[in-house]
Amino acid sequence: MSRVAVVGSGIAGLTAALRAHTLGHDVTIVTKSALSDGSTRYAQGGIAAALFPDDSVAAHVADTLRAGAGLNVREAVEALCADGPDRVRELIARGAAFDRDGDALARGLEAAHSSTRVLHAGGDATGAELERALVAAVRAAGIPVVEGVFLRDVILRDGRAAGVSLRPVEGADLAVDADAVILATGGWGQLYAHTTNPAVATGDGVAAAWRAGAVLADLEFTQFHPTALAASVAGGTAGAFLVSEAVRGEGAVLRNAAGERFMLDVHPDGELAPRDVVARGIAVEMAAQGGHPVLLDATALGADFLARRFPTIDAACRATGYDWGREPIPVTPAAHYAMGGVATDTEGRTSVPGLFAVGEVACTGAHGGNRLASNSLLEGLVFARRIAADIAGGLPEQTEPSDPPEPSDAVSPGGRDALQRAMTRGAGVLRSAESLKAAAAAVDAAEPSGPDTAAWEAANLYTVAGALVRAALTREETRGCHWREDFPAASDEWLGHVLVSLDGVEWEKA
Ligand SMILES: Cc1cc2nc3c(=O)[nH]c(=O)nc-3n(C[C@H](O)[C@H](O)[C@H](O)COP(=O)(O)OP(=O)(O)OC[C@H]3O[C@@H](n4cnc5c(N)ncnc54)[C@H](O)[C@@H]3O)c2cc1C
Repeated sequence: MSRVAVVGSGIAGLTAALRAHTLGHDVTIVTKSALSDGSTRYAQGGIAAALFPDDSVAAHVADTLRAGAGLNVREAVEALCADGPDRVRELIARGAAFDRDGDALARGLEAAHSSTRVLHAGGDATGAELERALVAAVRAAGIPVVEGVFLRDVILRDGRAAGVSLRPVEGADLAVDADAVILATGGWGQLYAHTTNPAVATGDGVAAAWRAGAVLADLEFTQFHPTALAASVAGGTAGAFLVSEAVRGEGAVLRNAAGERFMLDVHPDGELAPRDVVARGIAVEMAAQGGHPVLLDATALGADFLARRFPTIDAACRATGYDWGREPIPVTPAAHYAMGGVATDTEGRTSVPGLFAVGEVACTGAHGGNRLASNSLLEGLVFARRIAADIAGGLPEQTEPSDPPEPSDAVSPGGRDALQRAMTRGAGVLRSAESLKAAAAAVDAAEPSGPDTAAWEAANLYTVAGALVRAALTREETRGCHWREDFPAASDEWLGHVLVSLDGVEWEKA
């Protein structure tokens, strides 16, 4: 039996913990905020898997590769799509209540999927239902959970992960010794001024893995959702609430400050062009109107229809004072999903022995340069289970007491807003060498601070921002979600991965 420390309690962390517990390991979950806090519970659209007779794993693989702009790691895509159906069935067996059409599972179609294969729950509240089911399963299994503890660093001994050092909301620092550490800390949306991600998404796991010597990959690929409400929702995300593309699918249109539709000049499909094209169209229009958000006009659909079809979005609009049945709402592209992260193989192993990464913190290579919609919840499920199986294969036990961790540098949280603005301007939807260098200057302007949780969180944001900017400067082409205004074409020379580690930036040919 191994001691397993799981950091993070979204779909990836909870699934890894449940499976490792089932296999007989001594599991502890530690998490920064409340157990159910994280991106998982905000997921709207659903989870993709080839579950139906008219679909196939091969078709799901093909769709994922097409979206990934030539950068997917084929082995990871095959693992994702082949394991997916069984993992979703297990989730259903654990009590996740997906929407149904009579006795059958209801199926949704999303952009770039060739088959109707997306399962959803509560209409547009899929993530909330999955998180509820997994939290209930963890509670029922009696797995120890420590809430309100912030991961500072991975503890290393003899070059392997030997536990984690933590700072609780109250009280003294503590350490959890472990034979295997599973990072499941989610993404880094809070690097940007507008994000659909919750406040906990500050890239802590990526920064801690980097400090521990792990290799990071594909950091330059951040997916921006084109339409997020450009106003904060009380008690909700720190940045911007996601307004699903299904709203545009029903007929809502985008207008600039002068009230003119502009997407038809950008792409023949107008508002229904691919997500990254719409995000770029909006970014260009916003730049031309002094950075002000564009408007999403859904008034033609009527207030009653909008409230019935999109209950969660309707509530978010009302909470921010907008009556979207009667007036257009301000929207902006917002950082949504990190394709890159801590580089792992298909068993979730990082380059540091004993250190695993899963879910959005990880870069398995399954998404390549652009994620296919609804593949990220699936990735958390699939690779969490593969990690647990790998740990069951045997890990040397750590018998000696842990070394004290090297303290991480703390950075003044007062600079966070400036960093977010600089990243949005310089390393956002559109970038160039000039804009990226300006973002790098903002990273270098980090000011030291006394050590507390807010300062370590800020330090992690600066660490990830610095690594991301270096990766984005290195890739001199446009591919997937990485749009370089100074290198507007894709080039076969760049078919490969930018890797960042303590040793600097390296290039790995695909
Ligand atoms: C609004 C929105 C809609 C989305 N819709 C979909 C969708 O329809 N389909 C889909 O497939 N994907 C969707 N996604 C993406 C998907 O939700 C995420 O990629 C996925 O939930 C990530 O799961 P995770 O377990 O890796 O991370 P998370 O669910 O983000 O969990 C991370 C956990 O780590 C903890 N943590 C972070 N830092 C620390 C630290 N320093 N110390 C301790 N704990 C820490 C957090 O508190 C949290 O518990 C959506 C995302 C958003 C934001």
